[in-house]
Amino acid sequence: MDRSVHAAILNDRGAERVRGGHPWIYTGEILGWEPEPPGPQVLTVVVRDRRGQALGIADHSPQSQIRLRMLSRDAAAVADRGFFRQRLSAAIAYRQQVVRDSDACRLVSSEGDGLPGLIVDRYGAALSFQTSTWAMAARQTELLADLDELLSPTVVVERNEAAVRSREGLERRSQLLRGSGPMAEVSINGLHFALDLLGGQKTGGFLDQRENWAAAAAYARQFGARRALDVFTYQGGFALHLAQVAEQVEAVDSSRPALEAAEQNGVRNGLEKIDWVEANAFDLLRDYDSGGKQYDCVVLDPPAFAKQRANLKTAAAGYKEINLRALKLLAPGGLLITCSCSHHLSEAALLEVVAAAARDARREVRILERRGQALDHPVLLAAPETAYLKCIVASVR
Ligand code: SAH
Repeated sequence: MDRSVHAAILNDRGAERVRGGHPWIYTGEILGWEPEPPGPQVLTVVVRDRRGQALGIADHSPQSQIRLRMLSRDAAAVADRGFFRQRLSAAIAYRQQVVRDSDACRLVSSEGDGLPGLIVDRYGAALSFQTSTWAMAARQTELLADLDELLSPTVVVERNEAAVRSREGLERRSQLLRGSGPMAEVSINGLHFALDLLGGQKTGGFLDQRENWAAAAAYARQFGARRALDVFTYQGGFALHLAQVAEQVEAVDSSRPALEAAEQNGVRNGLEKIDWVEANAFDLLRDYDSGGKQYDCVVLDPPAFAKQRANLKTAAAGYKEINLRALKLLAPGGLLITCSCSHHLSEAALLEVVAAAARDARREVRILERRGQALDHPVLLAAPETAYLKCIVASVR
């Protein structure tokens, strides 16, 4: 058991943020340690302000700029196996309340579940597991044993390849830990998907878009969309949902393996009319625009263009370009469903980009709805960084 005998003393700015409910403490916010700085074997520490008032306990990352991540606001809490087991159970129970029409979801979403550095995705009877902090990685064996007892998964994969692991001094690896293979079959919103939990992007699928797929289909139905274009389709999430409504669906991605999986998903669901197109989205949108093509619904769900804050300007230019082309491709009364998963691009900034594109395209845009990530990816009010996915639904004239 890891007893918290080391205390970190925070400066006023750090203490204020922690009091406001934020879970992160940066190296520069730590004034000192009592009795001395912890070695790498110490997983959790007590957190205090300058006056000695205890603020709680936190996980310790010896190498990272984010040096501490709050675990509990109770300084007397002990981060033992029972503590984590209780958090895991609470995370699972929460999914029973918020997840609808899917046997795939994010079961544990790091800070959003009070388990910083831990992500667990469920794909039917399979689990995908990843840790991204020093302390959580040290608990891997115990956490897997607890998940086993709570859920009895038949397949378990570890996707510990995220680049952030290097910043924590952790090795990067992906492997099948249990089961005969990494393929999982899931049912989402009544559609069937087969996912490769080791080869796929993210942990196999984009679970955070699950509710937006259903919303896109509902809007397409409501607005009578006949021709739909899904740009950056990956394995066809939006396209397959839209194909239940529209007569003609075209889906674009630059990744051939993703499109092959998407096509298989189409066959699996008897939705074979979708046209899967391998292309660079920027080139294709430009060509379609100059060719005068028209659609009743266009979905844009690009990868994060702004991976770092420094890229924000170039990223905004990229978002503007694709939104401008999409707006021009829309027939009067058409639907634009435009997404961004860049942490650094706020919803307000995305709306500004779309507004600038609308001005250049001479289109009037009515916002129908501002959506975000599915509810199993909780957004903490006190930590805006936990809200990363934006999905704007608009009607265009
Ligand atoms: N819409 C998907 C997720 C998209 S992820 C869903 O809801 O599940 C982003 C996708 O963009 C990836 O599949 C990636 O292969 C693709 N991509 C990245 N750059 C691209 C480009 N320049 N042109 C076309 N596709 C691209």
